[in-house]
Amino acid sequence: MCVFCKIISGDIPAHKVYEDENFLAFLDIKPINPGHTLIIPKNHYANLSEIPENELSNMILIVKKVAVLLTKKLNFTDYTISENNGPLAGQSVAHFHFHIIPRFENDILTDWDHKERRVGEKEYKPGEAEEIIKKILA
Ligand code: AMP
Ligand code: ZN
Repeated sequence: MCVFCKIISGDIPAHKVYEDENFLAFLDIKPINPGHTLIIPKNHYANLSEIPENELSNMILIVKKVAVLLTKKLNFTDYTISENNGPLAGQSVAHFHFHIIPRFENDILTDWDHKERRVGEKEYKPGEAEEIIKKILA
């Protein structure tokens, strides 16, 4: 059983933020910022590719509900929703989940957001974007 399935079954504890029949939200054990929350489906799916569309549709509404709840109760305005698929993307728990990350000025995600992508070498070379679009649309 994966670590998040163990949280669902009660085998390991979590600080629960929200729970219903199909979804559970709880505090991330290693928060990027205070209030960093994870939302998981109670059914085990490894990633975005695996979760059925109807469940994902319901889930995103819960993400919104929990995010708005957190902003009100924890008194912040800005937040990042993230979701990693596979180890190269930084996924460390193979049970599909969204992160809700409260954001603050000059927090540890700020460099990633604003600096890396602005340096010239990160831009597409002439023709590169067109090649990618060709593959996607083929
Ligand atoms: P990801 O790296 O996108 O797969 O996110 C997995 C997240 O789960 C990480 O941010 C971990 O800190 C968090 N995590 C791992 N184990 C637990 C746990 N037992 N309780 C709460 N959060 C956890
Ligand atoms: Zn699981």
